[in-house]
Amino acid sequence: MRVYVKEHTVSTRSREDIVNITRLVEDTVRESGIKNGLVLVYVPHATALLIVNEDEPGLRTDYLKKILEIFPRDGDYLHNRIDDNGNAHLASAFIGSSRVFPLVNGRIVRGTWQEIMLVDLDGPRTRRVVVEVMGE
Ligand code: ZN
Repeated sequence: MRVYVKEHTVSTRSREDIVNITRLVEDTVRESGIKNGLVLVYVPHATALLIVNEDEPGLRTDYLKKILEIFPRDGDYLHNRIDDNGNAHLASAFIGSSRVFPLVNGRIVRGTWQEIMLVDLDGPRTRRVVVEVMGE
């Protein structure tokens, strides 16, 4: 089995922001030369997360609106005694900071309306995205 790892950086533009990283991930897969196996996408951050779904302007707003409804910025978080981003930590913890995809014949298996998106809830800042391709 071969393993290819690449770390990217992605800039976010506001406190809450969504960046489509599908192209970045697929370019990395191509570059790896690996055709079949698994692709891990991971953001090594406690206040960012990954979602896999349709990237459409209305939905982008819907995602952020729903996340902030479930994890409001001004919620009653003990963490906010020492920081101001308790909601971002909780959303990252519950929604998750990694996703794994099957890699078949050089392509990530994903639905037509499944894009890979990084969601930042404590930006703007530079976020790391680790893509690990494992297989043959
Ligand atoms: Zn914090």
